[in-house]
Amino acid sequence: HDLKSHVQLTMSVRVVARVRPLIKNTEIEKDRIIETYGEAENKTTLRIPNPKIASELYSFQFNSVYDDATQAELYDREISPQVKHLFKGYDVTVFAYGVTGTGKTYTMRGGKSLADRGVIPRLLSSIYRRARKIEKDTAGETQVEVQMSYYEIYNDKVFDLFEPPEQRTAAGLPIRDNNGKTVVVGLTERPCTTLKEFEQLYDQANVNRSTSATKLNAHSSRSHAILCVKVVQTTGEEVRISTASAIDLAGSEDNRRTDNNRERLVESASINKSLFVLAQCVEAISKKQSRIPYRESKMTRILSLGQNNGLTVMILNLSPVRSYHLDTLSSLNFANRTK
Ligand code: ADP
Ligand code: MG
Repeated sequence: HDLKSHVQLTMSVRVVARVRPLIKNTEIEKDRIIETYGEAENKTTLRIPNPKIASELYSFQFNSVYDDATQAELYDREISPQVKHLFKGYDVTVFAYGVTGTGKTYTMRGGKSLADRGVIPRLLSSIYRRARKIEKDTAGETQVEVQMSYYEIYNDKVFDLFEPPEQRTAAGLPIRDNNGKTVVVGLTERPCTTLKEFEQLYDQANVNRSTSATKLNAHSSRSHAILCVKVVQTTGEEVRISTASAIDLAGSEDNRRTDNNRERLVESASINKSLFVLAQCVEAISKKQSRIPYRESKMTRILSLGQNNGLTVMILNLSPVRSYHLDTLSSLNFANRTK
């Protein structure tokens, strides 16, 4: 029994679509081109017209489709169930994929109000709650520690978001293989014992992210922001370590189409490559293939994607309106490839 559930857990991917609401004052109902279908609480189908023949609809299937869902609904249904697996020792990885302006940052980080909080603060809240419960239930015999690292990958270079932007070197941090694991040399790992402490560190790092983006004259939509939360459970001699990773991916739009200066071309090539390898890895995991090409891009390599019995949730962020039509179709085709 144990072996079977282990095997099932070993390779698991959920691909879910989230259609954001219309943006007030700028987007109007008649520009909406996406329709979603299924039972109210369990939609799985999304339809969008062929840009050339409007009467022809393309249909896409997902594990779940969210249309105007609240942050709580998305978190409670997709991410919260993974927390118990994390504490059993499995790595959990959540990606937000999509074109700039479709809600990736809103989904992962969210807004300031409690209701607007995104996946990341909710996940940390769940982790601390469960940690305290385990410590209480074992009368302190099991101790849970949480450590975070937060970095971005821009043009295939790794930058520590705990480092002030002026301390960055152009080459970024080196990566190295260490006992079969890929590590970022010199990456800061901060212990954080409470949700409040986590939020302070996370907010500060996000300030570093936006100032560095301005400094490099690069919009943060061109880098992947990767948060890794290591959960260390110690019971006497036994130590169990697992990692929850949450990734706000670089915008998937094809910059070559709109903005073709040299710098943008280099950025696009590196974004395209890393998203392409990501799709291949997610596909390999979902098809339960034994070879996952995670070593072929820096991001998947550092994440060791699928190596520690990974549970992966891919959130495909979509805008409902026509001005995103072609980009939405390429996002949907990307997601199709991962199934
Ligand atoms: P991205 O990170 O993909 O570029 P953002 O998260 O910045 O996109 O979202 C673009 C805009 O849409 C922001 O103003 C954001 O607050 C808003 N938005 C995105 N998703 C939602 C949502 N589900 N509900 C309400 N507003 C949203
Ligand atoms: Mg963003």
